[in-house]
Amino acid sequence: MSGWRVGAALLMAVPAVPLAAQTEPADAAVARLVAAMLGDTPLLRDLRTLTVEIGGRATGSAANRRAVAWALDRFEDAGVAARAEPFQMESLWLERSASAVVEGEGIGFAPRIAAMPFSAATPPDGAAASLLDGGAGSAEDFARLGVGARGAFVLVETPLLLDVPGLFREYGDAFAVERRAVEAGAGGVVYMGSRPPGILHRHNSSLRGDEARPMMVMERTAARRALTLLRAGRTLTLRAVLDLDIGGSYRSHNVVGEIRGSSRPEEVVVVGAHLDSWDLGGGALDNGANVALVIDVARQIRRLGLRPARTIRFALWNGEEQGLQGSYGYTREHAAELDDHVMAMSFDIGCGRITGFFTGGRPEIAEAVQRVLAPVAGLGPFTSIDVPVVGTDNFDFMMHGIANLVGNQESARYGPNYHAASDQIAQCDPGSLRVNAAIVAAVTYGFATGDVTWSRQSREEIDRLLRTTDLEQQMRTFNVWEGWAAGVRGRQP
Ligand SMILES: [Zn+2]
Repeated sequence: MSGWRVGAALLMAVPAVPLAAQTEPADAAVARLVAAMLGDTPLLRDLRTLTVEIGGRATGSAANRRAVAWALDRFEDAGVAARAEPFQMESLWLERSASAVVEGEGIGFAPRIAAMPFSAATPPDGAAASLLDGGAGSAEDFARLGVGARGAFVLVETPLLLDVPGLFREYGDAFAVERRAVEAGAGGVVYMGSRPPGILHRHNSSLRGDEARPMMVMERTAARRALTLLRAGRTLTLRAVLDLDIGGSYRSHNVVGEIRGSSRPEEVVVVGAHLDSWDLGGGALDNGANVALVIDVARQIRRLGLRPARTIRFALWNGEEQGLQGSYGYTREHAAELDDHVMAMSFDIGCGRITGFFTGGRPEIAEAVQRVLAPVAGLGPFTSIDVPVVGTDNFDFMMHGIANLVGNQESARYGPNYHAASDQIAQCDPGSLRVNAAIVAAVTYGFATGDVTWSRQSREEIDRLLRTTDLEQQMRTFNVWEGWAAGVRGRQP
């Protein structure tokens, strides 16, 4: 699937561009666009198809390939040229099934579990070992377990995840816990589910490539029961069966729609959201909502016949959950054009109201953001935070020195449903999603038409950003530091 596809038949259905639009002032164009975005569009219908009909769509799965075909069709229906752009995934990892049994004298129950991404598989009849109380997985907890941890399953208690800051804490904690577990020679790590009772989630494992031990999440109530027994002095064993589809490198696709710029077509503004999700839930908040939003922005710009000065690329990234692979692939494939990329925006925090942007530690961008938000000030207030952010598809653009934004959104229901079975369309507030779509449309059009006063950063400038912010620590937590340090990922010296 490659090569541009344009829905010729549907192009004819799009209203002809009014002559006045050719010379329409930018603020009038933005006003028409915002009004259209706030009106009756297929935004929610698209979200329903993607998250309920196609459902969870882990990269490498059949559902993910259906999502790619669906996204191409949506652009085609909108009369927007689009193509599936191939990139190479490092490795295949999918869960077929996961089950477990906890046993002790007079005790036997089968907790629901989910494999952590990139966990090792178990033998077909499972892996059995002592189940130990790992406390919070701190250094003291592992010191207490001592050599007893060797070969055992260590059960780690987690706080209930309530919000987005809690999510970043969870990532950071897992990074440290796994390092200690490896050092202690543990046979595997079992995380207490950090979501409400009954809800499984596929929390990101941080030690990607360490495929020596099974890693899993145990539903919260069952994990609490096991910990209560262990703390009462009972001896327990866990037998876990992780049936995983693990394989080598393979090809996946981003879907990229494009509206060519009228006067500066070589300059590119990217607005993106990731098409893939984890598979326990429907991937509505993470990140179907913003996929539907990006498609709707493209559709309305096309339908209204607006003519941005710069080229806009509407990027639906793949492989995001598995190491930001699709946007990384884009920066490699389009390396020769990166000097002309003036902005790369990512939206990835569900349906909560957009409150502003993370502006990447670049004051000149922060200033421009205020300007492009002005036409939608009534949908605010907006406050931007001028720090670099790792964890979504702005990352490789940032490491290439390209101005990048991540939409900041109210947590709403994002945290508790993150990567969870409960990430379903019902969690998405359609009203705030629609308002967000209008905001993103205005900002996208603003960057595609207004003055740009910045240029691509040099490796030295990116290094300075690393030295003056917590960017390096974030990169280590998300396991993307090594590629930069080795000079294979990001801007070359
Ligand atoms: Zn996401």
